[in-house]
Amino acid sequence: MSSIENLQIPSELLPRDGRFGAGPSKVRAEQLAALVADAPTYLGTSHRQATVRNKVGEVRDGLRDLFNLPDGYEVLLGNGGTTCFWDAATFHLVANHSQHLSFGEFSSKFASSVKDAPHLSDPQIIKSEVGTHPRAVADDSVDLYALTHNETSTGVMMNIERPAGSTGIVAVDATSAAGGLMIDPAQFDCYYFAPQKSFASDGGLWLAICSPAAIERIETLAASGRWTPAFFDLKIALDNSRLNQTYNTPALATIHLMASQIKWMNDNGGLAFSSGRSGRSAEILYTWADASDFATPFVANPEERSKVVATIDFNDDVDATIIAKVLRANGVVDTEPYRKLGRNQLRIAMFPSVDPEDVASLCASINYVVGNL
Ligand SMILES: *Cc1c(COP(=O)(O)O)cnc(C)c1O
Repeated sequence: MSSIENLQIPSELLPRDGRFGAGPSKVRAEQLAALVADAPTYLGTSHRQATVRNKVGEVRDGLRDLFNLPDGYEVLLGNGGTTCFWDAATFHLVANHSQHLSFGEFSSKFASSVKDAPHLSDPQIIKSEVGTHPRAVADDSVDLYALTHNETSTGVMMNIERPAGSTGIVAVDATSAAGGLMIDPAQFDCYYFAPQKSFASDGGLWLAICSPAAIERIETLAASGRWTPAFFDLKIALDNSRLNQTYNTPALATIHLMASQIKWMNDNGGLAFSSGRSGRSAEILYTWADASDFATPFVANPEERSKVVATIDFNDDVDATIIAKVLRANGVVDTEPYRKLGRNQLRIAMFPSVDPEDVASLCASINYVVGNL
């Protein structure tokens, strides 16, 4: 076993960039160069002054362009990442009763936050087997449908559509989907995410694209007298966001890296370009797995196979843990599966920053490792 772990993958097979993690994910060198160039007048300056506020404005306007947002939709942001946004949503997005599609680690977490909130009624939780996704069911008692565009733990993506005949608002966890998958803003009221996946930046921030209905919900709940910690107060976040600020101090480098990534996407053709890169990577990876006699896409339904985070099962006689170790020793990192899924599997992120050619090289590298096991 120790000898296989010393296996050297020939350099001509290796990806030029070995970062395939599902978050934090690959940051492009050009983003970092842009940050370094701006650093003397940007880093270490006040987030309440024009230089940084204009950068926040670039992020907000850039997202508006990227997602082709209809009039009235607004981009909110705050500190704490997606996990914090779930808690904020229990105060200022769920009025009383929510319905959650639960099909993996992340989608189950928001459901748990709501379940534990003493001021909300027990949520409806619709589950399906890992590797699949359930469907929302319209129900007049539901005021918020909690969907997940891409379940990062299992590699399942789902089409985002308002449940037919529903009156509640639709909130979508798009943490790993936003920027890498196509989306129609008419189908959601709140599309929330964080910068460390397709936006190739660091964690710690949440962003939420809100429709007029979602903004109305925030304003109504904020005026309702429901006790809300200020950090989770989405009305405070809304007011600050409108001024291109956050409630408390944000990480300036994170905002800058994200602004560069959004600009790169928009300059090259927008969401069609960025999701097209992920789509091409996914085509290469799943075609390889389908043709392989030792690897199989974990998600059975090809329509549900994620184009941003792929999960690939290996035959019992091929230990994926060893493959991931050898890859890591050769500089190809973070292909390990989601820890709690417990499968003989690799998980490979194909966010827009990842070069599709590097995905092809990764497949060749895995073939080489397995051939030498
Ligand atoms: C990464 C991820 C999260 C967690 O994001 P944090 O910013 O770390 O809180 C939540 N949901 C999904 C779908 C994710 O991929």
